[in-house]
Amino acid sequence: MNAKTEPRITECRVTAWQIPTDQEESDGTLTWSATTMVLVELKAADIWGLGYTYAHQAAASLIRTVLFDTVKERSPFDIPALWIEMRRRVRNYGNHGLGGMALSAVDNALWDLKARLLQVPLSRLLGKVREDIPLYGSGGFCSYSLARLEEQLGSWAAEGFRAVKMKIGASPDQDAERVRRAREAIGSDVKLFIDANGACTPGEALAICRDLCEPHRVSWFEEPVSSDNLKGLRHVREHAGPGLDIAAGEYNSTPDTFQAMLEANCIDVMQADVTRCLGISGFLLVDALCQGADIPLSAHTAPAMHAAVCAAAQKLVHLEYFHDHVRIEAMLFDGLPTVQHGVLRVDPEAHGNGLILKRHAAEPYIVA
Ligand SMILES: [Mg+2]
Repeated sequence: MNAKTEPRITECRVTAWQIPTDQEESDGTLTWSATTMVLVELKAADIWGLGYTYAHQAAASLIRTVLFDTVKERSPFDIPALWIEMRRRVRNYGNHGLGGMALSAVDNALWDLKARLLQVPLSRLLGKVREDIPLYGSGGFCSYSLARLEEQLGSWAAEGFRAVKMKIGASPDQDAERVRRAREAIGSDVKLFIDANGACTPGEALAICRDLCEPHRVSWFEEPVSSDNLKGLRHVREHAGPGLDIAAGEYNSTPDTFQAMLEANCIDVMQADVTRCLGISGFLLVDALCQGADIPLSAHTAPAMHAAVCAAAQKLVHLEYFHDHVRIEAMLFDGLPTVQHGVLRVDPEAHGNGLILKRHAAEPYIVA
């Protein structure tokens, strides 16, 4: 293959589904009853690649116009060049938030397309560090009854998950009992993580460290204060006490936002989301930054889209098995990575990310 015979990207399909949750869900700062996936398919030489993000359907419009216009008639093999150009093209709309999510979906599709054109699994194209990716079960919404909380977290523990995460912060007076019941449901050997989604002040967060985390052996406190408040995160980290990791990073997009968090010394574990951090290309850069800072990396939600890059990321410690996204990915795709005993494994044979879209599934929920 030379430059003249290299395949070119010729077509693009974008679909957005808004899928109702199985019951109303809430965390420390938000309540929702549906989740939207925006999926992009790119075609070159009669092969289609796919990638997605969880964003507002407005991202679909940006992909169909600005981003497809950027990659059209270009080689899917030179992803770094396309990534730089896409970043330039969304400059005025923002590499953060919706613009970054739209770009992430296209970058994820480019990697899948390249691997399918080369007829290799995406994990093979990226190069693997590990076969097995440790998962942690994630749900435990503030809107759940105590019975539902115990049932969900307890069933993950029974399946062999080594860690589970619950939300806190919507009704602070109920959190002590919720955390106590969660610990009882999962037993003493499974790690218990909590996520406040930025609901607390630094002082409130430190009270939670003392009154909830220590007695119930919580080992991870995610976003105790807003991720915009790096000084506040640092204050909590410095006073949290031993055995409790402070984690954040899920909203970061461009590499400099991750670098700022590292330089602020405000986290023990970096989180990154391949559907927000400018795709697999961005995730690999975050992995390099974590390597430089010697900080572990944890992948945030969207397990099927993360699988291959989690097999490849050197500093990765685990991947979030998020209830909403697990449900939606099973609804929309065949060829999902297998999950057994709390460990995810990529398919060693299937080309690309291995995902096969069930095109007509969830048709009533198409919104764009
Ligand atoms: Mg979170």
